[in-house]
Amino acid sequence: MGKPTGFLEYRREVPERRPVEERIRDWNDVYTVLPEAKVQIQAARCMDCGIPFCHTGCPINNIIPHWNDLVYRNRWRDALRVLLATNNFPEITGRVCPAPCETACVLGINDDPVSIKAIEKSIIEYAFDHDWVKPEPPQKRTGKTVAIVGSGPSGLAAAQQLNRAGHHVTVYEKNDRIGGLLRYGIPDFKLEKHIIDRRVELLQAEGIVFATRAYVGTNIAPSELVRSYNAVILCGGAESPRNLLVPGRDLKGIHFAMEFLAQQNRRVAGDRIDPKKEILATGKRVVVIGGGDTGADCVGTSIRQGAVTVHQLEIMPKPPLERSPLTPWPQWPYMLRTESSHEEGCVREWSVATTRFEGDSQGNVKKLHAVRVGPPPAFEPLPGTEFTLEVDLVLLAMGFTGPVQSGLLESLGVQLDERGNVATKKYKTSVDKVFAAGDMRRGQSLVVWAIAEGRAVARAVDEYLMGSTQLP
Ligand SMILES: Cc1cc2nc3c(=O)[nH]c(=O)nc-3n(C[C@H](O)[C@H](O)[C@H](O)COP(=O)(O)OP(=O)(O)OC[C@H]3O[C@@H](n4cnc5c(N)ncnc54)[C@H](O)[C@@H]3O)c2cc1C
Ligand code: SF4
Repeated sequence: MGKPTGFLEYRREVPERRPVEERIRDWNDVYTVLPEAKVQIQAARCMDCGIPFCHTGCPINNIIPHWNDLVYRNRWRDALRVLLATNNFPEITGRVCPAPCETACVLGINDDPVSIKAIEKSIIEYAFDHDWVKPEPPQKRTGKTVAIVGSGPSGLAAAQQLNRAGHHVTVYEKNDRIGGLLRYGIPDFKLEKHIIDRRVELLQAEGIVFATRAYVGTNIAPSELVRSYNAVILCGGAESPRNLLVPGRDLKGIHFAMEFLAQQNRRVAGDRIDPKKEILATGKRVVVIGGGDTGADCVGTSIRQGAVTVHQLEIMPKPPLERSPLTPWPQWPYMLRTESSHEEGCVREWSVATTRFEGDSQGNVKKLHAVRVGPPPAFEPLPGTEFTLEVDLVLLAMGFTGPVQSGLLESLGVQLDERGNVATKKYKTSVDKVFAAGDMRRGQSLVVWAIAEGRAVARAVDEYLMGSTQLP
């Protein structure tokens, strides 16, 4: 432990959010950088617990107390080594992870938890600043070949692990750029895209081949991959959005969140959007349906585009302001979360169900009809609570039902589980040579889980190809 009395002496500090007035005028990261000296003080708050519950909270089992100690002692290079031992992309989790490690931190029982996420990000950025992060190509090649379908965090983590084990890895991505939802889901104000480019360049220098605009099941036959590679890994994500089948759904101006978010990420990247397909919140009254993270990303994007008003509606009841007794420490707490986007000027409503939409004579959505409802699972409408909202743009952010079945999955004939995700045994699907990981296997989840799955599937594939594995 760096400093035995650190947790008694220092208060928790995390990177501050830039002022709302400033940040809503650009697409840059909402957060400022915590200076190194302050990061070391934060690391000094770690108690090096006998049983570090932060580990159990973290899906990739980051060795948190060890790097906290090293940061406090100014041994940043050693801290980097420990950090990279469990996490392929800490520069990404250090920015977008909801940090289940922090809600499991022992200090959090009766004090503020250690600022683990901020320390993680500082270690990796310190390393990039000092040019310590270098490509690590394998010393020997095995001659085995692996195709990975999908370049989100699960596909990229699997690619890095398998390439380092000496296999020839090719990643097939249907989009024009690499990154999955990191690239075309999460907005730039949460994750600036040069962070992904920097990592992809390293992966390329390590020997991984990327094929973009390569839509397996559409312009590439899945059977061709199975025939020509020693193993195939499906990392295609859970891309089927949940729909809202109420009267008026077909009116113009009602879109799935991902259509809207991906367009804005492209715009920030400098792409031209076909004006006929453009979805913009500028000058509009926006309603986002769905109270989760995707919904919050729609709120922040709408505000930056210049929406007149933004409402976010959620069917579930408002969570408690403090950790609910139903989810005691060290569990992930059920409680109200206020994302940066929520501070930027949105009205949040809970226990609301949308019943129908109404349009004008040109077929544009103009009014949303809703009713307040009781608790789940019945969501019983409460009589006399019906209300309407004037609206020009509706964004549906009600989650994802699972992977897209047509094309890739149907063509391969892989078995699905009862939730419609790809069924696996030790990451192997029902089809010979074919494995699966990430949201395609577990359903819509988190970046850190995608990395965990990518690492796990890499072990399974390495063992399948070589008879044993030394991958961590
Ligand atoms: C708007 C939004 C915001 C989010 N914010 C956060 C956050 O802040 N923090 C967090 O931890 N998690 C967040 N998540 C969840 C997180 O992004 C995902 O859990 C994670 O990206 C899943 O990784 P993956 O590799 O399994 O799949 P994905 O990231 O979905 O990548 C799948 C890739 O496969 C490609 N693909 C699919 N089918 C084919 C095919 N047939 N041929 C070729 N390519 C194909 C897709 O184009 C895509 O690039 C967010 C999700 C969304 C939708
Ligand atoms: S649980 Fe918190 S205080 Fe304990 S080792 Fe982990 S980070 Fe440090």
